[in-house]
This record gives sequence, structure tokens and C-alpha cells, in this order.
Amino acid sequence: MSTAATISSAPRPARRATSSSRPGHRGLTPGDTVEPCAVSDDLDALQGALLRWYGRERRDLPWRRTTDPYAILVSEVMLQQTQVARVVPRYLEWIARWPTAAVLAAASRADVLAAWVGLGYNRRALALHAAAEVVARDGWPADLRTLPGVGPYTAAAVGSFAFGAPVAAVDTNARRVADRLGHGPPAELLPPRRAADWNQAVMELGATVCTARRPRCAACPVAVWCASAGRPAPPPRRAVERFEDSNRWVRGRVVAALAAGEGLPPDIASERVERAVAGLLRDGLVRWVDGALALG
Ligand code: SF4
Repeated sequence: MSTAATISSAPRPARRATSSSRPGHRGLTPGDTVEPCAVSDDLDALQGALLRWYGRERRDLPWRRTTDPYAILVSEVMLQQTQVARVVPRYLEWIARWPTAAVLAAASRADVLAAWVGLGYNRRALALHAAAEVVARDGWPADLRTLPGVGPYTAAAVGSFAFGAPVAAVDTNARRVADRLGHGPPAELLPPRRAADWNQAVMELGATVCTARRPRCAACPVAVWCASAGRPAPPPRRAVERFEDSNRWVRGRVVAALAAGEGLPPDIASERVERAVAGLLRDGLVRWVDGALALG
């Protein structure tokens, strides 16, 4: 695969250090109060501090121990909308059962859907299966975004982690961290030749320190370089629908029941089940077989 052709958002040159405005790290510890102060725009120092912190503090996640593009793609698809703690055991089971794209491509859609139960958004499973079919048949494409279910973020993540592409993987965490740091968009922060580590480091910071609702600026390794240290803007609050009230929940219950060889869930209002089944049929996740619903 040509990494250069993978993603169009190549990083722009980093801004250079202005050491005169650099205040130096103050050795912040949890519980310290971070006062807004003159913010250093020394991007080299910011990058070094975050990469060193990531080297020390990174969570040991199984997909961080590999550069196999298939394994990384599986992890990235599972991590869309599903929490890390829930993904880890499912990822390990999946890789043990289907260790390569070719093995997954040979599996039935019904088996793939059944193995996805509980991860949500079942269409992701079918897209992953379809992507495996493409890779098994044609190899990895030069533009990963041509694979089913692979958008700009997933393409950048697989491109940088597996193929060493110098691109920023911009998910919600990376965007929020960049917004708060105030040094430009994520692509401008990317250090030369360290895209994979940098992408992981930014995501790790966003997931564990610079979180959406409770950022821990006093424990942040880049507070000195952050324009928002001590006063990050909270994300806007949105009305949140209870998961059990959503059509997605009903769809998940229907797929889980079919995977278990059961009938449609009897404890959910029939009109909700009918709506969910209509959507599952439309999306090709279930089909009629001899008058009964079946997966895939
Ligand atoms: S945790 Fe605070 S100091 Fe660190 S990047 Fe986020 S807003 Fe800035």
C-alpha cells in the first residue's frame, strides 16, 4: 500500500519554538490548581512532553502490541461507539477465531453477526466482513477509505498504526484536545516521523486526562503549553435519550435473540419490534428463511 496516497490530510510544518515565551514545566501534580498564564507555543516541547508521558502512562491494550492492519482495523471498528473495557475481551475472542482477513472473509454473515452481539451498531460487523472480503481478494487498497465502513478517521488510524502513514487520526478525543490546546488543528500538531505514537498519545490524553466533562488539568503533562489549562470549556450539553428507549436498543435485542435461536423479544412493544425488524431487513442484517427471521 502506498502510504502517501492513503490520506490527503498530510501534516503542515510545525510551528517553531519561541523559547523566550516558554515558561517551563512546573511539575504539576494531581490536586494542584492550574492558573491561566502565558502559554508557550513551543510545539517541539509540547510534543516531547506528551510522547514521554504516553511512553510512561499508556494503557497496555492488545491492539497496541501489533502493526497488523487487519487486527488494527478490527479494533478500530469495534471501538467506534463501544468502550475500551468492553472491546478488549471481544477483540481477543475475534482475533483468536478469525486471525486474518481471509479467515474472516470465509465466515458466514450470520456467524459474524452473532459474534458481534453486544457490541452494538451491527452494520459495523457486516461492513468489517465486507472489508475483509475486499482485502482477501485484492489486498490492502492504496486508499483505505475505499473499504466498506472505513471513513477518514479509521483510514488515518489504520494508515498510521499499521503502515506508518504521516497522518493525524482525528476522533472526538483528538479534536477536543487540539481545540483546548489552542495550537491549531490536529494535523498541525503532528510531529515528524512519530504519527502512530502521537495519534495514540493524543487519544490517550483525551480518554484519561483531558476528558470531555472532567478534565484533570492539574495532572496534565501538557498543561504548560495549553491555552485552556485550568479553564477548559465544557462541551455543550445535549438531551440524551435513554438507551432502552432507542430503536438501536430494540435492534440489538432482536439480533441477540436470533443469534441465540430464540423468537422475537416478547417483552418489547410489538410496534417497536416491527420497526426494528423492518430496519434490519432493509439493512440486510436479517432475512426471511422459510417464513422465519434469520441473521444475515
Ligand atoms: S487537561 Fe487541561 S491542561 Fe491538559 S490539554 Fe486538557 S484542558 Fe489543557
